[in-house]
Amino acid sequence: MTPAIDDRAPPARPRIVIIGCGFGGLEAARALRTAAVDVTLVDRTNHHLFQPLLYQVATAGLSAPAIAAPIRHLFRRQPNLTTLLGEVTHIDPAARTVHLQGAAAPLPYDHLIVAAGATHSYFGRDDWAEHAPGLKTLDDAFEIRRRILLAFEAAEKEPDAQRRAAWLNFVVVGGGPTGVEMAGTLAEIARHTLPGEFRHIDPASARIILLEGGPRVLQAMPEALSERAREQLARLGVDVRLDARVTAIDAAGLTVQAAGDTYTIPSRCVVWAAGVAASPLGRQLAQATGATTDRAGRVVVQPDLTLPGHPEISVIGDLAAAHSHAPARQPVPVPGVSPGAKQMGRAAAANILRRLAGQPGQPFRYADYGNLATIGRNSAVVDLTSPLGPVRFSGYFAWLFWLFAHVYFLIGFRNRLVVLLDWAWAYWSFARYARVVTGIGNAGRDK
Ligand SMILES: Cc1cc2nc3c(=O)[nH]c(=O)nc-3n(C[C@H](O)[C@H](O)[C@H](O)COP(=O)(O)OP(=O)(O)OC[C@H]3O[C@@H](n4cnc5c(N)ncnc54)[C@H](O)[C@@H]3O)c2cc1C
Repeated sequence: MTPAIDDRAPPARPRIVIIGCGFGGLEAARALRTAAVDVTLVDRTNHHLFQPLLYQVATAGLSAPAIAAPIRHLFRRQPNLTTLLGEVTHIDPAARTVHLQGAAAPLPYDHLIVAAGATHSYFGRDDWAEHAPGLKTLDDAFEIRRRILLAFEAAEKEPDAQRRAAWLNFVVVGGGPTGVEMAGTLAEIARHTLPGEFRHIDPASARIILLEGGPRVLQAMPEALSERAREQLARLGVDVRLDARVTAIDAAGLTVQAAGDTYTIPSRCVVWAAGVAASPLGRQLAQATGATTDRAGRVVVQPDLTLPGHPEISVIGDLAAAHSHAPARQPVPVPGVSPGAKQMGRAAAANILRRLAGQPGQPFRYADYGNLATIGRNSAVVDLTSPLGPVRFSGYFAWLFWLFAHVYFLIGFRNRLVVLLDWAWAYWSFARYARVVTGIGNAGRDK
């Protein structure tokens, strides 16, 4: 039998393993800061990533360190926590161990919090991924940035008008917050950042097309704000196509079905912002514990975020199909957003401590503060929940609100300062400085 990592000494204190240092895992770990427990936090990356600003890295507005913080550094002052860099391959609930890729021994736990998040879903067409990368990790953002910037470069040296047009057609699939942000920012780059830098093309002639399969963008928002967002996108020069379903994507472009018509869009730069699926770890865990998953692969959890028959395992964040349980109200699903993950992280940690003290866990209750989405410079929509009813606004003040809210929630003072300075500079100059691209060898030749 393989010895467990800390087999040498008998455990003096309860061992808590947290898988994933996204919003959920980070909050859970912080909530255990002063507890008499030993926490091991495992992530396959060495950084906590602020995903809401990832599109800024993908569009060259911010550099990676501005929105990512090294996990080891974040927890340097939490002596009860050990950080491990590694990919969890599977969980063995019977042996109460977590298995890491390439590790000599599994990691034992008394309590486990699984916060491995979500990934892209291509609705069964994984072959589209190569032609239409999604945005989830820093590597994704670098790849999208590379494709955007190199498309303009390829257009500059393309003598054939038709092929040049294909390089200058940028298509974003999916009209959720990420798709809207990407499309709006792409329009800004084409109209404001790049003009004057090229000699053979006019970057402002680039077409930015946003394809949404449903009848409106930002479907989680009230209808009036969706319409406002569509108008703001149109003002920025984005060609928004609603009820437009993508049926094929390849290296030459996309095929779209809309209003009974089928047409193709030649494009060399497509961004996928249409589908989300839970981390594959969810299905493995569900199979091993007898829990169920929903259509997106999220693990269905009990009111206290644990799994049926396994009070020692909590699943939180984007990986959990969780409900909010307010007294005297019907349970409502918790949305896959960062406040949901953070609140679940704190709740799961608190329930573990309750159980260690011999008390039962409490049902999770989600405090919903509302929704924000930015569209581009000076444009955003805000839908806030307040005790007096919803507060909804759009345009410049919504954009300012969005901006300060995001800076406030960023991890680390330095990151806040850097982002504020970069944005202030970009606001006045229209410049986007994070435009370094490497690995150019094949660009414009094979794509
Ligand atoms: C582009 C984008 C924009 C977004 N914008 C917003 C927004 O504006 N507002 C908002 O509220 N929400 C936004 N969200 C959603 C929000 O980021 C998620 O709801 C939140 O990150 C979920 O937190 P989590 O802890 O469940 O997962 P994540 O934050 O995704 O963290 C999961 C962690 O688990 C690690 N991991 C995964 N699998 C393994 C494994 N097998 N082994 C080890 N580690 C693993 C990952 O490396 C990662 O660090 C956005 C998401 C994206 C992708």
